[in-house]
Amino acid sequence: RRIGVALVGLGGYSRDLLAPALQLTRHCRLAGIVTGSPGKIPEWQGKYDIPDGNVYSYDDFHRIADNPDIDAVYIVTPNHLHKPQTLTAANAGKHVWCEKPMAMDAAEGEAMVKACRDNRVQLTIGYRMQHEPNTRRFMAMAEERPFGRIIKLRADAGWFGFRDGPSDAWRTKPEFGGGAMYDMGVYCVNAVRYASGLDPVAIRAWDETARRDIFPDVDETMRFLLEFPGDIVAECTTSFGRNLNTLQVDCERGWYVMSPFQGYEGNAGRASDGTVFEPQLGKTPRMQAEQMDQDALAILNNTAPRVPGEDGVADMRVLDAAFESARNNGTRIEIP
Ligand code: NAD
Repeated sequence: RRIGVALVGLGGYSRDLLAPALQLTRHCRLAGIVTGSPGKIPEWQGKYDIPDGNVYSYDDFHRIADNPDIDAVYIVTPNHLHKPQTLTAANAGKHVWCEKPMAMDAAEGEAMVKACRDNRVQLTIGYRMQHEPNTRRFMAMAEERPFGRIIKLRADAGWFGFRDGPSDAWRTKPEFGGGAMYDMGVYCVNAVRYASGLDPVAIRAWDETARRDIFPDVDETMRFLLEFPGDIVAECTTSFGRNLNTLQVDCERGWYVMSPFQGYEGNAGRASDGTVFEPQLGKTPRMQAEQMDQDALAILNNTAPRVPGEDGVADMRVLDAAFESARNNGTRIEIP
């Protein structure tokens, strides 16, 4: 059986990556859309053969409860909407797939986990890398430790955007969850957690925004240092002003690196012993198709999803502490 998926928010990621990826899946089908832009509806209905009864606005989206054609809702809206929309979907009895960052802070994330648990639906976060084979290899190496003890990690993630000056896009506005840390910093945090197999205990963070004219109210660039149990440290940089895409793990007897580690075209890397990690999944949007198939199988088989809501909450705890540290000029903040 294929599960019916409704996309919530028909912006760039839904249009260019997720909807095409759904056409490649074996266990999903694009069954519905939820949008605040009525003008987009005819094109989506025509292109993907979506019946009138499976089209919703943000205001009547709770009616999805009565629609047996839709099993899961994939939330792909600006970040401030992730929590309220997750609660609507969970209360409607639908499984929830939610894009990163899962919420605005850890408290919101915890409320989302609870709502999904109370309604007995799955909650999974759209960290597509955790479905990518080279990343899964790195996750296994966190356990196997082929080069001995891990000493230091580095994760840098960013893209050079907003070149044309100030923009009214939601990514530059605090009330929508804008800023590089929410957008790309979560990849660094998630990566150093899965590459070490550990949760950090403390952080120091610095807002190093260069283009304050474009980003008056959110971070364009953030640098942060994480401490893990066992004297392991991680250095991370995230930015809207630099193209960054590297995850490196330094160990006692060698190192391994993936760059890109969050590319759409698949991740590639190498290790100090000559091992090469070739891109595995092929052309875009194979990674998203693999992600959604794995998440669909977890629903169909009633097994734990690979990236449960709790994984997103752990990242939000780190982001909360990062923002607090950055507000206080890099003061060391312990992560609960
Ligand atoms: P986008 O700006 O292209 O699209 C956002 C959509 O939300 C638009 O259709 C817009 O109309 C709608 N929207 C609803 N309420 C809005 C409001 N109040 N203000 C502005 N827009 C509103 O953004 P996107 O790149 O598609 O990102 C959407 C989500 O997907 C974000 O959470 C982002 O972090 C995530 N994302 C994830 C990946 C990934 O690789 N996993 C990649 C891109 C985006």
